[in-house]
Amino acid sequence: MKIIGILQDKKPKVSFEVFPPKTDSSFESVRVATEEIASLNPAFMSVTYGAGGGTSKYTLDIAKEIKDKYSVPSVAHLTCVSSTKEIVCERIKEIKEAGIANIMALRGDIPRDGADYPRDYRYAYQLIEEIRRFDADFCIGGACYPEIHPESKSGAEDLTHLKEKVDCGLDFLTTQMFFDNAIYYSFLSKAEKCGINIPILPGVMPITSVMQIDRVVALSGSFFPVEFLNMVDKYGKNPEDMKRAGIDYATRQIINLFENGVTNMHVYSMNKPEVAKAILNNISNIIA
Ligand code: FAD
Repeated sequence: MKIIGILQDKKPKVSFEVFPPKTDSSFESVRVATEEIASLNPAFMSVTYGAGGGTSKYTLDIAKEIKDKYSVPSVAHLTCVSSTKEIVCERIKEIKEAGIANIMALRGDIPRDGADYPRDYRYAYQLIEEIRRFDADFCIGGACYPEIHPESKSGAEDLTHLKEKVDCGLDFLTTQMFFDNAIYYSFLSKAEKCGINIPILPGVMPITSVMQIDRVVALSGSFFPVEFLNMVDKYGKNPEDMKRAGIDYATRQIINLFENGVTNMHVYSMNKPEVAKAILNNISNIIA
């Protein structure tokens, strides 16, 4: 099933993201977590792609299992920046053969270890063109950044490139995580003014441990509102309290988004079924 069809239906719903294992030995634990999250009956699930493509087989296997075994629509992520054209085309073919209708087309982060890497692709729009050339029927998602991609000099420049990327054939966008909904609302209105009129799915990340915060800052440079910082001050020293508070914070974000007319939420569930479950319980009266 195509994600765009799911997003066009205006009933409130939630989708979850999982990440693949890094090694064979951790495959089983990721598979179990995925099964538990799938059993919560989300609108769909997306499976990330390890930087450099070293775990691509797991992305495919897990996305296929989500669709075939648990009957939940799935999205396979794919990155291009450090892959050759040959490898990327092979991955697209594998996704097609697995019967997965949806690809999240990403550039990936540029390798920073100084090693040489293939330069067949520079930006995500080239991957989108590649996928469309292979099969015009894929439903393709792309990434966007309400707080600006770290490589962009300005929001205007980032939006210009985003519009070009959308025009290459994207069906929907998913945002980088944000912790202040006002930033997302403002981004929606700027994107609309820019002529971007495909669905822009908010990405909500429940922060359930203090250690996660440093990773989020390094990855996205997100702004943390005072309410968030107060929460960390108050609960950060106790892991159980912090987990509960982080789930509550994400729940409040989601409820506010629903109240403001957003109908689809994408939750970065980080392979934690208990977090996904708690959030769904908290909003059961909205998505019933
Ligand atoms: P692009 O859209 O290519 O943008 C990258 C930068 O280049 C931006 O600054 C943009 O403004 C600029 N740019 C774009 N086009 C041009 C142009 N024509 N000329 C000049 N500048 C241009 N990473 C993974 O490795 N695996 C994943 O599974 C994964 N999933 C993600 C899911 C979501 C929802 C998000 C938000 C990010 C995800 N990422 C993932 C991270 C992503 O790969 C990085 O953020 C990466 O640095 C940028 O990818 P992109 O697809 O947004 O790139």
